[in-house]
Amino acid sequence: MEAKDVQEQMRLLKELQDIDTAAQKIRLDRRQLEKELGGLDAEVERVSVMVTGLRESLEALQAERRELGHALTQERDHVARAESRLPAIKTQKEYIAVLKEVDTAKKMNRDIEERIKGKDAEIAALDQDRLEKEKELAEQQAEAAARRAHIEARLAEIDATLAAREAERVAIAEQIPLVTRKRYQTLLDRRGGIAVVEARQGACQGCHMQLPPQVFNSLFRQEEVMSCPHCHRLIFLIRQ
Ligand SMILES: [Zn+2]
Repeated sequence: MEAKDVQEQMRLLKELQDIDTAAQKIRLDRRQLEKELGGLDAEVERVSVMVTGLRESLEALQAERRELGHALTQERDHVARAESRLPAIKTQKEYIAVLKEVDTAKKMNRDIEERIKGKDAEIAALDQDRLEKEKELAEQQAEAAARRAHIEARLAEIDATLAAREAERVAIAEQIPLVTRKRYQTLLDRRGGIAVVEARQGACQGCHMQLPPQVFNSLFRQEEVMSCPHCHRLIFLIRQ
């Protein structure tokens, strides 16, 4: 192979490597954005579950509060009925018994009233929590929607860039002989996305091993596309 052909092939391979390196980075960004997109839902979902939990607890407390209300009404009726019997009572013994009944019922009422007060305070505190969490949820939903729109626009941009890069890549790859192109692709897959590297100061910049002098000499003469004997990456020399 003539030196100028080797030079041209290496130039094309380096270009291919640049495009592939850039595309790898873009794809990595893309994956991160997609991951973030998935995470957005999870965070909103987490707060949403908390809001649902608070609403359910609140409903349970309100049901308990209603029961106490009914109990209080019943107990007040009980007092009123007992007191209404008093004027018609004939014996002192019966009178005392009814007074005692009224007294017990009133005591019960005070107890229920205390429990209602406690329940109302609990409901008020929980309702405050619910309002705060609902506000947080609304804010998060708005934030997530804005972020989602941003990410989706960014993903569309990335896909357009990748498509353009792919077209460039195909145009360049077509100019490289199939056998070299295959070698490049295999290396790209097996060597962490880096197939073409510089040979600098006697060493391969891919694996950092020293290159034998005869490899360097061949590289210098540009008789063929050269590989590092250690990592097999395609190597090129930058002439000073
Ligand atoms: Zn190497």
